[in-house]
Amino acid sequence: MASIKTLEKSSIFDHYFPANNENSIEMFDQAMLMVKHVVQTFFKEQSKPYKGANPNKLNDICSEVMDIPRIGMDLNKIIEKTGAKILENSIGVTHPTCVAHLHTPPLTASIAAEVIMNVMNASMDSWDQSAMATHIEQQMMKWLCQIYGFPLQADGIFTSGGTQSNFMGLLLARDHYIFRKWQWNVKQKGLPPEASRMRILCSKEAHFTVSQSAALLGLGEDAVITVDTDEDACMCPDLLKQKLETLKHDDYFPFVIVATAGTTDFGSIDPLSEIGELAESYNIWLHIDAAYGGAIQFSDQHKLKLTGIERADSCTIDFHKWFYQSISCGAFLVKNRLVFQSLHRNADYLNSLEDEQTGIPNLVGKSIQTTRRFDALKLLMSLQHVGLENFSQMIDYTIHLAKRTATYIDQDPSYDLIQHPTLSTVVFRYRPKLIQTMDIQTRSNKLHQHIRLKLLQSGEAVVAKTKIDGWVSLKFTLLNPRTEMSHIEHILNQIKQIGESFDQERVS
Ligand SMILES: *Cc1c(COP(=O)(O)O)cnc(C)c1O
Repeated sequence: MASIKTLEKSSIFDHYFPANNENSIEMFDQAMLMVKHVVQTFFKEQSKPYKGANPNKLNDICSEVMDIPRIGMDLNKIIEKTGAKILENSIGVTHPTCVAHLHTPPLTASIAAEVIMNVMNASMDSWDQSAMATHIEQQMMKWLCQIYGFPLQADGIFTSGGTQSNFMGLLLARDHYIFRKWQWNVKQKGLPPEASRMRILCSKEAHFTVSQSAALLGLGEDAVITVDTDEDACMCPDLLKQKLETLKHDDYFPFVIVATAGTTDFGSIDPLSEIGELAESYNIWLHIDAAYGGAIQFSDQHKLKLTGIERADSCTIDFHKWFYQSISCGAFLVKNRLVFQSLHRNADYLNSLEDEQTGIPNLVGKSIQTTRRFDALKLLMSLQHVGLENFSQMIDYTIHLAKRTATYIDQDPSYDLIQHPTLSTVVFRYRPKLIQTMDIQTRSNKLHQHIRLKLLQSGEAVVAKTKIDGWVSLKFTLLNPRTEMSHIEHILNQIKQIGESFDQERVS
């Protein structure tokens, strides 16, 4: 009986929610202050990007904080204990020697915007859950389409990132082709029998999400035909043309070409204009995966490298990569807004046809998500804070840093540079001192795995590894504009030391 009495007094819940109420305001203030304190302490005490804990150790630390009590605890203590503990054992992505992945330090403006986004908790699937947020997203999209040189009838939607954007590109391309070719509505009838002969073309350096999408779309990974690349890891248009001819000759249906603007390993940009021309002459959808390279459209110095991006029927841009947005934040753009038709649906409870006819915007009809974040806000506020001029310079700085790093590595006999960078990644290998007679590759691969692990264990640097023609190689992804040559030299010295002691261990 007592519990029923308690439930009648909803004011006991006041301090759990931010609201116009003294208890709420007090609690929110305290929580934010404590978060501020924990974050400041984290940065002040951070001398390396990682504390070095291995997975077993991390599991033990997790057990310490995985206490979910029957009666709630003090929020300040939770922030201080759980929050701080997790923060201090995280990968410090803002640290200048954290240079592994397409994973950037978030801008302060992006974090500030996240707080506002979280407070309003808008959901973009219907206007009555978002109101102004819907209009901001639409206007940001319009602006972005213009930046990328898309025509007036272009449109787009914010997504959770490149995976979703690539999936949407292939989904719309698939449905568009099937409708045009066989007057068949995939949305209603599923795939037609001919779908088993549909083919996707991309370079062999394309992101794995192309194959993943093919599988999810019911076409199967075998539907992906990879085209060889030149010495700069860019797709060869001549070979693409050959593949198109062969496929047509063998009664396959090539329906989409995926060009990559910024491959994950080398930052290579496929020849977009030439591929665009081929796509046009074969009347095939062109999807450009510019998840990584899309940012250089904002660089005065480098944007010419993206010439041809405006030819895309659809395009992927990731803002949580080189736009320094907190995760997640991505976009999917289309040249012609009508293609969204195959996603469109009206749900009576969300976006009824009647509402739409009165002019209420309907973003759920352009997305494969229902509830969706208002990520447009943080991009807007970030660009407002940094300004287009400094944003352009940030991009230029990191490209310049990658070039200098590559030259430095190239001139040091202890290293082999694998390829000169196009964007901001540098792939290289340590060159062992000893001439090995037995299975050089296996030993080299072991050594490079060892180097990367040692760096992580010491916490001095977070460096990526990748495999190039069977050789495990190290990779710097230099997106942090606060990384300097001295940091790079520090990491390279560490690598050399680890490499040399590995060499010696093997001798004795
Ligand atoms: C990162 C990346 C993706 C995947 O994007 P997510 O945001 O991680 O989902 C796709 N393509 C390319 C070229 C990428 O760099």
